[in-house]
Amino acid sequence: MAKQSLSAATIAAQAGGYIDAASGGVVPPIQPSTTFARDRNYALHASGNIYARDDNDVGRVAEGLLARLDNAQAALLFPNGMASIAAVFRALPTGGCVLVQTQIYWGTTKWLRDFCTRRGLNLQEAELSDPAQMQQLCADYKPDLVFIETPSNPWLRSTDIAHAAGCVHAHGGRLVVDATAATPVLTRALDFGADIVMHSATKGINGHSDVLAGVLATKDPEAPHWQAIATDRHDAGAVISSFDAWLLIRSIRTLPLRVERMSQNAQAVAEYLDDHPSVETVFYPGLPSFAGHDVARRQMLGGFGSLLSFCVKGERADALRVVGKLDLFHRATSLGGVESLVEHRHTIEPHTGIPETLLRLSIGIEGGEDLIADLAQALAC
Ligand SMILES: *Cc1c(COP(=O)(O)O)cnc(C)c1O
Repeated sequence: MAKQSLSAATIAAQAGGYIDAASGGVVPPIQPSTTFARDRNYALHASGNIYARDDNDVGRVAEGLLARLDNAQAALLFPNGMASIAAVFRALPTGGCVLVQTQIYWGTTKWLRDFCTRRGLNLQEAELSDPAQMQQLCADYKPDLVFIETPSNPWLRSTDIAHAAGCVHAHGGRLVVDATAATPVLTRALDFGADIVMHSATKGINGHSDVLAGVLATKDPEAPHWQAIATDRHDAGAVISSFDAWLLIRSIRTLPLRVERMSQNAQAVAEYLDDHPSVETVFYPGLPSFAGHDVARRQMLGGFGSLLSFCVKGERADALRVVGKLDLFHRATSLGGVESLVEHRHTIEPHTGIPETLLRLSIGIEGGEDLIADLAQALAC
């Protein structure tokens, strides 16, 4: 059977059909060695394994698996999501122009503002989920690189990847998509025309709140920009450990199953909140009335993900009272894990325009009825 025809569930469950060549094990071994020996003729025992900063067998297995799930030709793992985003921008020549979506993951925006200033990159930030803005700004600035996040965090805005790719490519630039909240199960951004897709694998891909990792993937590993990223990772050393790569493979086996359950739960929670008298607004791409639903339906296949936000009616104190009354949701940051989390974003980033009544939920794989019952008792006055 052609490899491309297998479903994500099959590829993931079998870790891409992995069998350990030396032992027959169906699980890869962890090789903790940082260095690899040569024989008396100075030949390497295993060609390609010299030093663990870039030669890491289990890391390569994880990268191969992630590449297949994103329908990519190559993937690179990094020690966390921010290191992978930094690698994308560090590989750009000084003096270029980058166009970046506003109101995305705050860590990205914060780092980029500082980095672009230091590196002499012209940073333009705009609401790129608006297709007219995307088209206009690509024409005006002819950016070398455009960076979007879909669905965005915490506003859940959907950006049309295919439309964005058309606008960016018309002026010779490259499109990079942070698809963390979608995961490769729901959105294969490269199939819609992105040049590079990025995921914080700390989130849904690992999904157990116990590994930091980031991944980049591309269909065009010969592209000079990708080559520069790979060289920078090797030389500057932003690599993942064998243990973390091994845990990631273990987690990826259940990724499609987890994403399916989380999306079902999140859809039910979003619909419940949408009808609740104490809730002002719900931000979730799976709600037909929500802006961007049509775009999300085209590019999120099989569900709308685990992330949703909502505004409680009233004031800051009302939102914090709801947070305090929740029994099942852990009050913690992050998203995409098996356990549900709630976060009052304004407390974390008070100066970025997040409403004081906004609560962000990351919906896990618990019984959906339990989550809804918990929200019901917390929202009851
Ligand atoms: C968490 C996150 C990142 C950063 O990833 P880390 O693994 O925490 O470094 C980037 N983008 C999005 C959308 C995220 O949620």
